[in-house]
Amino acid sequence: MTEAPVFDPPESALASARRAADRGLCPECYGRLFGRLGHGLTNSERADRLVEALHLPPVAASADCPVCGGLFSRLPTWVERTVRAAEGFEWHRFTCGSRWDPERLAREEALWIEVGTEWGESARSAFNRELGKKVAAATGADGVTEGPDVVFLADLPVGRVELTVLPVYVRGRYRKLDRTLPQTRWPCRRCRGRGCNYCGGTGKMYATSVEEIIAGPFLKATGAEGSRFHGMGREDIDARMLGRGRPFVLELVRPRSRTVDLAAMAKELERDGVGRVEVVDLAPSEAIDVVRVKEATPEKSYRVGVAGDVPVAKVNEALGLALSQAIAQRTPKRVAHRRSDRVRTRRLVAARVVEAAEGRFTLDLRTEAGTYVKEWVEGDDGRTVPSLASLLGVPLKVEFLDVLEIHDTEG
Ligand SMILES: [Zn+2]
Ligand SMILES: [Zn+2]
Repeated sequence: MTEAPVFDPPESALASARRAADRGLCPECYGRLFGRLGHGLTNSERADRLVEALHLPPVAASADCPVCGGLFSRLPTWVERTVRAAEGFEWHRFTCGSRWDPERLAREEALWIEVGTEWGESARSAFNRELGKKVAAATGADGVTEGPDVVFLADLPVGRVELTVLPVYVRGRYRKLDRTLPQTRWPCRRCRGRGCNYCGGTGKMYATSVEEIIAGPFLKATGAEGSRFHGMGREDIDARMLGRGRPFVLELVRPRSRTVDLAAMAKELERDGVGRVEVVDLAPSEAIDVVRVKEATPEKSYRVGVAGDVPVAKVNEALGLALSQAIAQRTPKRVAHRRSDRVRTRRLVAARVVEAAEGRFTLDLRTEAGTYVKEWVEGDDGRTVPSLASLLGVPLKVEFLDVLEIHDTEG
């Protein structure tokens, strides 16, 4: 049910309307001088009411309207351009904007002052709204201010509609079972992705990655131009990622189709990832989840295989000591090329020996986010203090490392 229109212009508004009457404005622009007066009427209807009250002839449509230059009478053309701009894309929610000649907008504000109206509405916001209404009517899509699938920008001076397609986001958790697989696509360090002899023309250091395996079916299903992979941290290439898996958000860039059958994707991933990657808990996601996974600092549990000739009683003693003090870690040598060199303080939350044999032992550790476990065990040439090796007074070597759990939620 629509409310009855209310429009009861005071004397001062009528006086302004009289002053504006001979300016050659089109009905939309004339009525819009009083666009914030009353409600339930279009601006053209406001124009009708005003001239009636003033006993003036009806306002005629004009291609020479000094404010809009006939733009509002050409709205159907802009609706067509808008709908055409998004052809080939699936969209249900949209936002309209427009780019104007700033002089035209300034002229309109000058006119408000000249005729003395305090109710003027800008041509830009009226155009955006009217275009939005008509696009919604023509397509059945919803005009929204938040969370659109596409954004249209009508470039009025150029006569063209620019289209922005918002990404589709999917979240989930992955387990990585393969110790040769990087998390993300790793461009060749010699050619930076162009393809050279070093990388066998692939442009990559590794044939594939967790990112590429997971993105594959989604790229196919959505026709997206590309993807971005946002993991809640990352494990080393040679570390497995076990337990409930690592949370991630997959961002599909400029997708043609937005309706993703997650059950079908899960099935394809089961096949594509076999023996390498397992994906669980797939769910629709949104941009804010990217921030959430990037900013999370969950504790992590690891299983570490260590080579070192130490009696297990000594290891237990050292772990007790390690749990009671903070660890100072200078940025490890192996990541110094991409991280700033500084000292971070971290803590072990739990540590125990799960297995011991001649010359080697296995530990389960739980650490604060950002602890470099390999370096904590081996010492990184004195850059991590104390390290397990320094506490034991013998050299140690990590033989394998698995992430057992990311404790982002209870579990
Ligand atoms: Zn006009
Ligand atoms: Zn290369």
